[in-house]
Amino acid sequence: MTVSAASPTIKSRVLIAGATGFIGQFVAEASLDSDRPTYVLVRPGVATCPSKAGVLKSLRDKGAIILQGLISDRKNMEKILKAHQIDVVISAVGGGNVLDQLALVEAIKAVGTIKRFLPSEFGHDVVRADPVEPGLQMYKEKREIRRLVEEYGIPYTYICCNSIASWPYYDNKHPAHALPPLEHFKIYGDGTVKAYFVAGSDIGKFTMKTVDDVRTINKSVHFRPSNNFYNMNELASLWEKKIGRTLPRVTVTEHDLLAMAAENIIPESVVASFTHDIFIKGCQFNFSINGLDDVEVGTLYPDEPFRTLDECFDDFALKLKDSKKDVGSNGNATPNHVIESMTISEPR
Ligand code: NDP
Repeated sequence: MTVSAASPTIKSRVLIAGATGFIGQFVAEASLDSDRPTYVLVRPGVATCPSKAGVLKSLRDKGAIILQGLISDRKNMEKILKAHQIDVVISAVGGGNVLDQLALVEAIKAVGTIKRFLPSEFGHDVVRADPVEPGLQMYKEKREIRRLVEEYGIPYTYICCNSIASWPYYDNKHPAHALPPLEHFKIYGDGTVKAYFVAGSDIGKFTMKTVDDVRTINKSVHFRPSNNFYNMNELASLWEKKIGRTLPRVTVTEHDLLAMAAENIIPESVVASFTHDIFIKGCQFNFSINGLDDVEVGTLYPDEPFRTLDECFDDFALKLKDSKKDVGSNGNATPNHVIESMTISEPR
């Protein structure tokens, strides 16, 4: 029998680790939007951080069941997975905690009933991409998790969603929270190497589509929306159109990026190594999807649209307009930086 589509009737019970994080929030919201019973694992004490407490409240209000625990606590994870009859486990722990997943994988193996595991990937295909250090270390750790999952025969899906839709700063933090530049652009190399940009909400939406889809079992799912395939020069022009003026363009050479990576300052050097891999080496498109272990998300769900980068930049332009209104009312401009300091851990 040829299986051609996901079964719309299955609603797995989903556990998400890292839902208070940058990527995890999008996934948790999409899980709730898809009406799946959604369990959110949070580290003890997270509620003491006001912004995270706010995220948790919003998820709880939408129906999430909040559980406390650490994925690195194997025994507790076994208990949680059994007690709540979890079918699907999604991990979105940050780059510094990738190896915490070793204990989670052991727990999943011991329980033996998990139908799908999505480890914390959410970026490039870590087997094919080959950034310089210190970014490479994170890929080595993600590869280690993949090896264990595959050795244990746990059904998996690897989400390779490429870059988040925003201006890719190499020296900043989670960029989806930051406006694109207003003074000058930093253009990596000659600015002609392309990358795929995906809205956070689409990372969540398409991730959740894969979890009950038989066509994505033991596959890497690649996000390659053709209308969101931009190089730095095009990205700069798009933003200039939105703000109605041109900005100077400053070249950041390959040498500059490699020098920043070599300094080994965390997180800047990690980000520089990923930036080099994306915008100099073209790591998002320099391989073809072979069809055996890979599948492209647009092929799976051809009728499901992606938000365009143009729409995402419209949102930024609206934020800019609102921040100008704020200047009017209180005399202070909203600064063009991230709302909260978060450790960057993947290409943007
Ligand atoms: P964050 O650092 O923003 O969030 C990590 C989350 O994991 C937090 O909720 C944190 O909890 C939780 N966590 C960490 N350790 C544990 C543990 N042992 N047990 C339970 N929970 C834990 O991560 P990101 O969103 O930045 O990264 C998630 C994934 O996405 C990574 O694989 C990263 O490489 C990738 N990524 C991809 C991007 C892209 O553009 N494609 C951009 C950014 C990340 P707490 O709230 O308590 O800290």
